[in-house]
Amino acid sequence: MLCYLYLQVFNVDQENMQEGLREVEIVSVEEIADKVYILEFERFFEFEAGQIIKLAWPGEAKPRLYSIASGEKQPNIQILFNVVGEGQLTPMMAGMRHGDKILASMPLGKFTGTGGPAWWIAQGTGIAPFASMLRSGQTHNKTLIHGGRYHNSFYYQDEFIPMLGERYIRCSSKDSGDSLYHGRVTDYLKSIDHLPVGPLYYLCGSAEMVVETRDILIEKGVGFGEIVSEIYF
Ligand SMILES: Cc1cc2nc3c(=O)[nH]c(=O)nc-3n(C[C@H](O)[C@H](O)[C@H](O)COP(=O)(O)OP(=O)(O)OC[C@H]3O[C@@H](n4cnc5c(N)ncnc54)[C@H](O)[C@@H]3O)c2cc1C
Repeated sequence: MLCYLYLQVFNVDQENMQEGLREVEIVSVEEIADKVYILEFERFFEFEAGQIIKLAWPGEAKPRLYSIASGEKQPNIQILFNVVGEGQLTPMMAGMRHGDKILASMPLGKFTGTGGPAWWIAQGTGIAPFASMLRSGQTHNKTLIHGGRYHNSFYYQDEFIPMLGERYIRCSSKDSGDSLYHGRVTDYLKSIDHLPVGPLYYLCGSAEMVVETRDILIEKGVGFGEIVSEIYF
């Protein structure tokens, strides 16, 4: 009896956690760099560039959060993700094929752009919300600083280069040449004498990167209220 009650409670918990999620059919999953993938499914909602969604494996309790990388008017929702070795969801997502099913939520989050000037600062897959902003036409007065390990870690660079030109800085911690800044995003920011006052500074990436970057910006005179962060924990 006790065991039965436990199962009942557990099932209710699973349902609650997956409440509001809808089953969607995968259009494609493509590996674009080592252990980095782009997953697509047909868009069934309106969203603002920079927002996130929850994704969950059918039957698994806990959804995970992902930034939408596609533009607001594109027909498919695109998610950029890297596989976490011991992860519960990402190894499963990487193995999905056209026609497989996953659960997705409506969009949420407030890491959204304004029409005003901004610096976008991203690490790794943290580039996704900025790809969405770019693909939604928000490129005027924007500077993008993207950190990655190797020359092929700059996802969506083929779209950013023509749109942003010299306002797109790729910081590679392992590679050099090919117009790359050799060093991390934080090294690049430390090397700048004066950061402009006025733009909003959008940070997206790991907790470590966001906290370190925020401290550098504040040290260089950027107001706390001008920094908008999205942490991939
Ligand atoms: C607001 C928000 C937006 C996000 N957007 C994205 C996105 O667009 N793309 C994306 O790839 N991820 C994103 N994430 C992270 C994502 O939600 C998952 O945490 C990640 O994909 C791991 O899921 P998993 O189930 O495979 O691993 P889990 O089962 O959750 O984790 C397994 C183990 O790995 C550790 N771990 C989790 N993530 C990492 C990591 N990145 N590196 C090393 N160890 C890790 C965990 O602490 C745990 O010990 C976002 C997170 C947040 C909070």
